[in-house]
Parts: sequence; structure tokens; C-alpha cells
Amino acid sequence: MIVNAGKPSTRRPAIQLQIKTILNRIQHYGGFVYQDIRFGEEEGSPGGIEIRLEAHRGMRGRCSQCRRPAPGYDRLKERRWGHVPLWGIKTWFLYVPRRVECAEHGVVVEYLPWNEGKRSLTTVMMGFLARWGRRLSWRETAEVFQTSWEAVYRSVEWLVQWGLAHRELQGVRSLGVDEIHWGHGLGANNFLTVLYQIDAHCRRLLWVGKGRSRRTLRRGLTALGTGVVQGVRFVCSDMWKPYLEEIGAQVGHALHVLDRFHITMHLNQAVDQVRRGEGARLRAAGQSAAQQQLKHMRWPLLRRGSRVRGRARQKLNALLASKLQTARGWKLKETFAHFWSYRSVPWAGAFLHAWCGRAMRSRLEPMKKVARMLRAHEPLLLNWFRAKGEISSGAVEGLNNKIRVITRRSYGFRTYEAMEIALYHTLGRLPEPESTHRFC
Ligand SMILES: [Zn+2]
Repeated sequence: MIVNAGKPSTRRPAIQLQIKTILNRIQHYGGFVYQDIRFGEEEGSPGGIEIRLEAHRGMRGRCSQCRRPAPGYDRLKERRWGHVPLWGIKTWFLYVPRRVECAEHGVVVEYLPWNEGKRSLTTVMMGFLARWGRRLSWRETAEVFQTSWEAVYRSVEWLVQWGLAHRELQGVRSLGVDEIHWGHGLGANNFLTVLYQIDAHCRRLLWVGKGRSRRTLRRGLTALGTGVVQGVRFVCSDMWKPYLEEIGAQVGHALHVLDRFHITMHLNQAVDQVRRGEGARLRAAGQSAAQQQLKHMRWPLLRRGSRVRGRARQKLNALLASKLQTARGWKLKETFAHFWSYRSVPWAGAFLHAWCGRAMRSRLEPMKKVARMLRAHEPLLLNWFRAKGEISSGAVEGLNNKIRVITRRSYGFRTYEAMEIALYHTLGRLPEPESTHRFC
């Protein structure tokens, strides 16, 4: 018996690993073969690795319209597509497309599984760039993979458009409607209207559009389609009048809820107005000691009281012990938080009445304004308790924050359209075509 004395096998693998082998394993296109792969060193070549494809001998080309095999007609000029770079080396697909004569569609260019219209990148490369464009900025993606910002943008755009055309919108039960400030200035064009799905199992951006008028929202609801809107059971929004009106008109069958996060925002804004107004008055009256108490207190005042700690807490306590208006405004805001802990609608209603009464007697105009607003929308406010557990509270706020991160991060979006594409790309949870093999 012969025993191999522990010597490592020196036998070489049966097949030398070639790029062709890798391509055939991860990215095989039926009807086509990888013919040869070489460095493009000829005159006029942009350099890099050139992967030449050929049609499978004996197989007919397919009509690019109906994808049925059809007899050949003629050949076009060789085309070149940018592909995923290998070891940082530019890589190209080269192929001489055939034209076929389809019985139904006449003479057309054959179907090429890696191609999309007249685009100069393979679909795999577009998917590759688009996925990296979600992790890095588009400019960084372009730099790392030796391509242009434009190429990254067009790739993301392609993936988003495919995703929007193929996404499933059935089963949207809860709809979040909101406005988001964007860019500089306060014109109508500096606001975006966003529609979210805010079901517990799926939170995503459904639609985004410029402006915040009734018409903007109508455009969004139309884009979702009647079927989707009819299926909605809960709508969550701010007290912004154009939205309230349009929701009432189009989604009246759903339970309309005012979002907790929006109400808190209005209360915080009111406290801030009280603080600023008082600060200005004290300064004018030369009462600098009292004015000092309000200094640097903006954020501690806006946070939930239980979350203010340390030195800020000491300052806040001193402020609350004073007879300043800001202290009264803050207490009103803080008391309102109890509202959300009720379980029964009548008791929540009773609390609301009591609170609004107190606010109206406070002699603080911003607080009175909030009280009037809450009173005017009492039924919608109380719907919050009727919808409890059905909509994920905080979902709108969370998605808004993500949008802010994206719009603020200097992605170098040159146009509104590019930003819109980026928002769908990162928050739309869109499906992706299978053809874009995952290289990353
Ligand atoms: Zn055809």
C-alpha cells in the first residue's frame, strides 16, 4: 500500500482560470458567447480590457420588440459598452449587433440582454454604479469607478424608472402626507410634498413633488392611482389647510389622523416665539438680568423636559422658578404631552378642553394660537386614539429626517430632478431588475 506522506498535492487545477470562465459563471447570456478578451491597444481604442461578444453560431437573433427569434437581415457597426471595471481597469463589451426581420415588427435591431436602448453602459454596470451611488455620493462613485457624474446619475435614473414601473402598490393601508422645506428661500418651490407608506411592515417613499398646494397633493394622489387611494384606511398629516382639504375630498373614506410629531412641532414653535418675544422686550426695557436667563435656552426649552440634564437642567429650573412668560409657555407645552397617554377618546377629549382653556387664559399669544388650532381640529386630533396601533407613529418624522440628510448632504444634485431620483433611490424600496448582477 502506498501512502502519500503528507506532501501537498502539486497537481494544477484542470482549468486555468480565465476571465472568460468568470464571466460565463456569473454573467452568461443565452445566445451569445464571450469570444475573446484582450487589452485594447490599437489605435483609437480608449484602452482597458476589451471583452468581445459574438452571437452563438446557429442561433437566430431575437426581435428586440417581442424577443421572438427572427431571421437575420444585416449587421450594424460595432458598438461599445462600458462594463464593471476589473481591478480598477476600464472594461468594455464589444459587439456587432445584427438586425433581424421580425414577421410582426419588421427590420429591427436584435435583442441584446446587456443593453438598454442607446445607453453606453451595460445594464450590469448601470446597476453597479447605481448601488454604489446609494452608499457614496454620486461624485465619489464617479471618481472611484473612473466614470462621470452624469453616468452615475443616468444609471440611478434608469434603475429608479425601472423600479417605479415595476413596484407593487397594492396593500398600502396607511398614508403619510407631509411637506418638507428644501434649499434656500421660502417660495412655493422650496417645499416638497411627500407621500409615504407608513404601515408597520413597510415604510417607504411613494411620491415626491415640488410645492405644497392642494394641486401638488392632487398630483401625488393621481400618480398613485385610484385603486391605491381607495385602499387607504388611515391618513396621517399636518394641519396644513390645503392638505386637509384635499385629503377630505379624495381620501375621505379613510380615518384622518393628525400626527403627534406635528403637534409637538407646533407647540415647540410657540414656546420659541414666546421666548424670542420676551427676550426682545426685556432687552428693550434694559432688564439684562432677566434676559440672561433666556440666553442659550432655545434647545433646552424645546426638548422634552425629562431629557434635559446637567447644567442645562439647572438653568431650566432657575428659569421655571421665575415669573417669566417663557416659563409659563414651557409648562403648557410640557403638560400637553399627557394628552398622548390617554386610552379613551372621551377622557382625551376632556383633557384637550381643559388644556385649551388654560392656554387661552395664559395671555401668551403664540400658545393661544396653538390652542385655537387644536380646538378647530379636535375630531382629527382624537382620531389619533381611534387609530392607535394601526399607524406607526414617528414614521413620518423618521422618513422626513432621512430626506433631510439626503437633500442636505452635498450630493451635488444639479437639478431638482436629480434630487427627486436620489430620494426614490434611497427611500423608495424599489424593486430592481434581475439582469443587474450584484457585483457589490
Ligand atoms: Zn418582433
